[in-house]
Amino acid sequence: MDTLYEDVAKLMIERKRCVALTGAGVSAESGISTFRSRGGLWEKYDPAVYASIEVFRRDPSKYWSIRGDFIRDYDSYQPNNAHLALAELEKMGILQSVVTQNIDGLHTKAGSKRVIEVHGTIREINCLKCRKQYIAPHVPEGTPPYCESCGGVLKPNTVLFGEQLPPDALMNAQNESLICNVMLVIGTSANVYPAAALPELALQHGAAIVEVNIERAFPSVDYYLGEKAGTALPKLVDEIRKQSSYSIS
Ligand SMILES: [Zn+2]
Repeated sequence: MDTLYEDVAKLMIERKRCVALTGAGVSAESGISTFRSRGGLWEKYDPAVYASIEVFRRDPSKYWSIRGDFIRDYDSYQPNNAHLALAELEKMGILQSVVTQNIDGLHTKAGSKRVIEVHGTIREINCLKCRKQYIAPHVPEGTPPYCESCGGVLKPNTVLFGEQLPPDALMNAQNESLICNVMLVIGTSANVYPAAALPELALQHGAAIVEVNIERAFPSVDYYLGEKAGTALPKLVDEIRKQSSYSIS
């Protein structure tokens, strides 16, 4: 184990109150393509057309034509070692929450309890008319699907372009960033608001920043782990376990 992991593990044990900020890179290993990456969804489909709330209101079939399969195949996507390691860190009392830009719900599937989904989640699908909620993969057939109770159009509880972020999630994410002592920035270049502001906020309030990204996105972080999240995070869990047992004995 190289000393870099030893140092980060030590930091996390000593400082406590760690928060993880995660993005698409964490879910890539679960086979979920990242929107902005090469070959990603938005390279084939213009998000201004397929994922804007304005277009959704006029013609929801556009959105459902590219997202319907994902929602109906929801059970086939499984958390990977990165999600599982974060859930483990929470159980160990090291991690206090996960703030995620991902809408796939995989942190919750992995067992994380305190997950703040700033872009909403595809797991929940609401009727725009009577607010009846459906849980993926259980949505009626159709592109778009309509509510079984009232015939209203169904829309996943995710933030589309042109829509407001869920205010509670945003506030919680900011609070977590203010009070954390260590922020792990994982699988995201955090160049999209609001995620972009969170490491900055944490830094201003004295937190150490640990970046886990294959390609470095933050030049001035305290620690940089240049590996896939599914490799780096289990290593970190092992190292924390090792050091914790030393300190107990
Ligand atoms: Zn309805």
